[in-house]
Amino acid sequence: MKKRLGLLYGGKSAEHEVSLSTAMAVTQAINFDEYDVYPIYITNEGEWRKGQPLLQPVKNIDNLQFTSEMGQSLPNDISSFLPEEREENASLDVILPLLHGPNGEDGTVQGLLEVMNLPYVGNGVLASSAGMDKVVMKQLFAQAGLNQVPFVYFIRKEWQKNQEQKIGEVEATLHWPVFVKPANLGSSVGISKANSREELISAVELALKYDRKIIIEQGITAREIEVAVLGNDEPKCSVPGEIKPLTDFYDYQAKYKDGNTALIIPAEVPTDVLQQLHEDAVKAFKILDCAGLVRADFFVTDSNEVLINEVNTMPGFTPFSMFPLLWQHTGVSYPELINQLIDLALERHEEKQ
Ligand code: ATP
Ligand code: MG
Ligand code: MG
Ligand code: MG
Repeated sequence: MKKRLGLLYGGKSAEHEVSLSTAMAVTQAINFDEYDVYPIYITNEGEWRKGQPLLQPVKNIDNLQFTSEMGQSLPNDISSFLPEEREENASLDVILPLLHGPNGEDGTVQGLLEVMNLPYVGNGVLASSAGMDKVVMKQLFAQAGLNQVPFVYFIRKEWQKNQEQKIGEVEATLHWPVFVKPANLGSSVGISKANSREELISAVELALKYDRKIIIEQGITAREIEVAVLGNDEPKCSVPGEIKPLTDFYDYQAKYKDGNTALIIPAEVPTDVLQQLHEDAVKAFKILDCAGLVRADFFVTDSNEVLINEVNTMPGFTPFSMFPLLWQHTGVSYPELINQLIDLALERHEEKQ
């Protein structure tokens, strides 16, 4: 019997457009003999819309017709989420949440799907939320003994009440340049590099526009290497990939606007570095209790020291994004990757029952 796949995409997030291209690419890769695809679209304003089941790949995702508007944020009657014909047990078999950033990648949508008892692709509530908060994530990494840059963090109130003291803490712990980031975001939104006290102050003010909690990290000069992880209890790693931003750092512009950042796959690294990358990627996956997939981002210095920067629990997933490309070079095609992720979702759901 065909599986009913709920394609959850869009979202009230800076990464809305990215999600649209991913959703379209997924419909082009999916095998329609195996799946009926039910589009569930979250608009930029956060309205949920349900589409007719798709019977073939979509050429332009903007042209989809929606049968019902499910209202702000969440349908009151959660069953309206489900397919129209309600014969016994007719529910969606699995959801593919192609959402990035807050309200998508941070455990909130995952919590909703848990409550609805629907299997879904990717990380659960805990991994998603711990992975979204860079402070919590780095504290867990530290506990796992992972090597990373030193950092300090504070919340808006602490900065407002005692700016001088906070600057003092940064200067005592770190040296210029530092990276200032909102704790809960992605795609480099709200991130800046600060080379002085003045720049630190404006960087903090900017980051605080996006989050009440911010993190300030030691800036490091290093290669940026990423590893894709796939699996549940026995996660596997891909070949490593290198990002060579042509800008000062891999900022939002370089990620989505210019498109001329070089991705080098596989990245050339010595064998012991590769081993370290794989070991650390799996350690990070396990300490956050991840499931399904993760993209682990590293720094590798001139002297081949490996430092973990972060994991992304729902990494970019267009066919041109690092995560699928890494798997393609490891021998897993884009359609096969989607199949494996769905199988992992079902396996994990099964284990919870
Ligand atoms: P995404 O989720 O899209 O990967 P993000 O918003 O979570 O991005 P980071 O990956 O932490 O942000 O940082 C974005 C970029 O900023 C990095 O890819 C790197 O180019 C640069 N960067 C971040 N932290 C540091 C640091 N401590 N030292 C040097 N460069 C850094
Ligand atoms: Mg990130
Ligand atoms: Mg991200
Ligand atoms: Mg990153």
